[in-house]
Amino acid sequence: MSHFDIAIAGCGPAGLAAALLLHRQGHRVTLFERFDRPRPIGSGLMIQPSGLAVLDALGLAPDILAHGAPIRALHGLNHQGDVALDARYADLGVAGACGIGIHRGSLFALLFRAAQAEGITIETGFPVATTRIEAGGRTLTCDDGRTTRAFDLVVDALGTSSPLAPPCGEWLAFGALWTTLDWPADAPFDAGLLEQRYTHAEQMAGVLPTGVRVDGTMRELSFFWSLKASEYEGWRDAGLDAWKTQVCALWPACEGLLQHIAAPEQLTFARYAHRRVPEPVGERLIHIGDAWHSASPQLGQGANMALLDAFALARGIASHGDLQERLAHAARLRSRHVKLYQALTWAATPLYQSDKAWHALLRDFLLTPLGRVSPGPGIQARLVAGLVGNPLAPLGLSVPDYEAIAR
Ligand SMILES: Cc1cc2nc3c(=O)[nH]c(=O)nc-3n(C[C@H](O)[C@H](O)[C@H](O)COP(=O)(O)OP(=O)(O)OC[C@H]3O[C@@H](n4cnc5c(N)ncnc54)[C@H](O)[C@@H]3O)c2cc1C
Repeated sequence: MSHFDIAIAGCGPAGLAAALLLHRQGHRVTLFERFDRPRPIGSGLMIQPSGLAVLDALGLAPDILAHGAPIRALHGLNHQGDVALDARYADLGVAGACGIGIHRGSLFALLFRAAQAEGITIETGFPVATTRIEAGGRTLTCDDGRTTRAFDLVVDALGTSSPLAPPCGEWLAFGALWTTLDWPADAPFDAGLLEQRYTHAEQMAGVLPTGVRVDGTMRELSFFWSLKASEYEGWRDAGLDAWKTQVCALWPACEGLLQHIAAPEQLTFARYAHRRVPEPVGERLIHIGDAWHSASPQLGQGANMALLDAFALARGIASHGDLQERLAHAARLRSRHVKLYQALTWAATPLYQSDKAWHALLRDFLLTPLGRVSPGPGIQARLVAGLVGNPLAPLGLSVPDYEAIAR
């Protein structure tokens, strides 16, 4: 196999997983990251069976399980106490299969440590601004004008606001406030559920168990509250007490948790973009992960899709033909699944984040009841597991053996 000199821009899940996979194939890999000390931003996320298949191939699945919380179902109640979401991993029919709630910091630390342990070069403090074809290769230039040598290939894994990707898509009206809190000793929550509460689709609160962080000692959870970007300033001006009253009116069990939030700075507002670069491959360039496509996290797929993209890139690079043909092959391996989940997430998001009452009515009176009768439970489980459209087979992966990983 030809060996390439590859620059990977971005130390998120996509960039780090791609670096590990390509380094193991014998390519010369250099990672570039804007932060001086690479760090993850944000709170918890869900590793689905689709993403765990890649982490398993990387040999990291046992660590992920050890530092995450096994989630057996997604469970939501509307403000009248009726079930509005009930998706169970048991309906996949795979022994021990679950989602894994994990702090972003743990996912990052496990991938980053593996990259360091394997001696992959990591250039930090390099805020990528542009890329150019020069001297038979592709360079990266950062904000202050520093330019790299010419690489055979640049992998854009810079996330949803990548300066290397053409503008496309749009920011969504709704985002969410997120924070990480210790799991309370007498928690009124189920440690095996991602729990949510809704007022129609206008308000949503959620609790995601995220296990014990790498280097941590306490079990933690992510708490989130749906908020429109246009209402963020108003939320800050109104003060925390007004917000806590709203949350407790919807979900009284959160009162104890909210006592640990003393300042608005403890909550991070995350905006979501729905976008897809139509052509992910350019000359000596490929966009992967959120740099290629991003969507609201309502179906909890982004990091998992990023991992699948990284795996497909490694498969494509290991295939035949010239570099451009290999990149095109990598994109083809993912393209159908990416388009499918973009459409599914687009359709599902307003059921949980919308001003329009009919979205919640559709959810509560049609879709949730349909999800309870065969084949609804199995379809729902495959949907949240990231497995609709069968993304693993073309990559030569399969749903991980959860029981073996846990041993
Ligand atoms: C609130 C929230 C909740 C989410 N929940 C889930 C979930 O439950 N499950 C799930 O699968 N996904 C979830 N996601 C989505 C998930 O976080 C993303 O899809 C995933 O992180 C994408 O990985 P990535 O590596 O492509 O990009 P990123 O994680 O965004 O990583 C990009 C990297 O590039 C670096 N970078 C950016 N710009 C530059 C630059 N100019 N120069 C140099 N470096 C740069 C960044 O510092 C970062 O290290 C959630 C997202 C949000 C916002």
